[in-house]
Amino acid sequence: MLKFIGSGSAFNTKLGNNSAYYKVGNQMLLIDCGSNIFHRIKENNILEGIEHIHVLVTHTHADHVGSLADFIFYSYYCHGEFAKPTVSVYSVHDVKIEELLAINGVIPELHCITKKFQSDTQYNLNFCKVLFEKSSHVEEIPSYSIELYIDDKLIYYTGDTNSLKLSLLNPNESSQVYDYVYVDTCKADYEGNVHLSLRKLSELVSRDLRSKFWCMHLDEGFDRQEAETLGFKVVTNEF
Ligand SMILES: [Zn+2]
Repeated sequence: MLKFIGSGSAFNTKLGNNSAYYKVGNQMLLIDCGSNIFHRIKENNILEGIEHIHVLVTHTHADHVGSLADFIFYSYYCHGEFAKPTVSVYSVHDVKIEELLAINGVIPELHCITKKFQSDTQYNLNFCKVLFEKSSHVEEIPSYSIELYIDDKLIYYTGDTNSLKLSLLNPNESSQVYDYVYVDTCKADYEGNVHLSLRKLSELVSRDLRSKFWCMHLDEGFDRQEAETLGFKVVTNEF
């Protein structure tokens, strides 16, 4: 369903920072734009045919927003109509993305459009519906998961998190049944981990639900085969 420009954790330079996208017509939805994502977008010609870019920001760790300013400047000066914003950036009101962009010299409402959402509220973005939900990640900055409704499919994208909400684990008791669940998963497993280890994911998710769970944000030690043997799917980069 979603495609991935990068599917790795902060330090997984081989897979790139975790970032998903979805294209429809001349529009593109992009989730996060970490430190090495602009480079990958340009090198792989992902913007071909795209005139409107909608960026959803989960949180402001560098592996999620590190090249967003470059991406906005590139779109403003080199892609689309010269000196017209082609990028809209959406985040929850407590995610300090305008401040971060301003430090990078990006002027919101000139170089890009920024929109602040309330969490737990659904918004319409032309071809999809979006809802941000608070996730459990680090104390220093707020972090969000995203529920997406695209093309009759209900998607849950955990962003960075070390836990899962109950309705993902007990879909029979929930009104929402997700078609795809993209989940931050790592091999690293230690007390205080701000990501979700494969061991913990296996404890949380019953075997019959696992085929809908797609591991992403993979660290270097992550063993794809191990996850697949456990019944999970694992995303791959696709351009
Ligand atoms: Zn993070």
